[in-house]
Amino acid sequence: TFTQRYALVTGANKGIGLEICRQLASKGIVVILASRDEKRGLEARERLLKESRSISDGDVVFHQLDVVDPASVVVVADFIKTKFGRLDILVNNAGVGGVEIEGDISVFQEYAEANLNIIAAKGAQAHPFHPKTNGKMIETLKDAKECIETNYYGTKRVTEALIPLLQKSDSPTIVNVSSALSTLLLQPNEWAKGVFSSEDSSLNEEKVEEVLHEFHKDFIDGKLQQNNWPPNFAAYKVSKEAVNAYTRIIARKYPSFCINSVCPGFVRTDICYSLGQLSEAEGAEAPVKLALLPRGGPSGSFFFREEALSL
Ligand code: NDP
Repeated sequence: TFTQRYALVTGANKGIGLEICRQLASKGIVVILASRDEKRGLEARERLLKESRSISDGDVVFHQLDVVDPASVVVVADFIKTKFGRLDILVNNAGVGGVEIEGDISVFQEYAEANLNIIAAKGAQAHPFHPKTNGKMIETLKDAKECIETNYYGTKRVTEALIPLLQKSDSPTIVNVSSALSTLLLQPNEWAKGVFSSEDSSLNEEKVEEVLHEFHKDFIDGKLQQNNWPPNFAAYKVSKEAVNAYTRIIARKYPSFCINSVCPGFVRTDICYSLGQLSEAEGAEAPVKLALLPRGGPSGSFFFREEALSL
């Protein structure tokens, strides 16, 4: 067994990603804090070192990584190979919301409350909100494309590039930060064609991507409603559903890995206009716990915070 473990966290310059880095580094893991923007990433690393006395200089290494840029993914994989020779933990955290809010952001809060009630009905924890609605949620084609490209294809691109390095670990672990805004929140019969059954052992990436192409086409043709795609945050929900399906697909393909997806809860970060219920540190707890699963732990599951939920 190796004594030192190495982790890479994507989208780690702020929000939940930065807290995941902090918590992993304070548990003795050497963390590669990856950010698409070099300045934001280096500043985040400095902040982390200054704020956390238990973390020292060598515990956190910065590297540039834009998950939508294949060249930058190759560079980070080469860097890890040369510097550490392997990777033990990959946290695919980078993500975008795919919507813009016009007017009063409380429209978002009301929507979040409605969804949390459904989560609560499914047995998970929820807290009250105080909504007032004046705003409007806008999803442009550009936002939708960026969202699917970042959340799903970005996760897949980084994972594929790093699997050879994870295979050199004696406890290879992947955590995909997903969202309960995926199928968990869908009403019966809503968006049936895009919901991937966890029972379907023939599910593969091609099938997932066919659905993503269909979504893209229906978005362009203005047929989202007509063809029963989920209302509001359509691209985000579709992208995270695809991430959950991808998680199950690769968990089957790599049985010696622990590969899970997790909703961190509703966390006060920029992606949700800081309207969440949890602090960034609280949001990082479940992803960190899954990142530190012992070999032979659960794989191919979706967690809402620390609770495994079946989709
Ligand atoms: P933030 O907006 O604070 O952080 C998102 C991070 O992703 C930023 O560091 C951002 O970088 C980075 N990012 C975006 N696009 C790329 C890219 N192409 N390449 C690399 N990094 C990128 O939001 P959160 O911390 O909340 O989000 C983290 C994850 O948690 C996301 O996957 C999100 O979907 C998920 N999540 C969050 C919830 C919440 O309530 N907050 C609930 C459920 C899931 P930059 O600063 O350069 O924009």
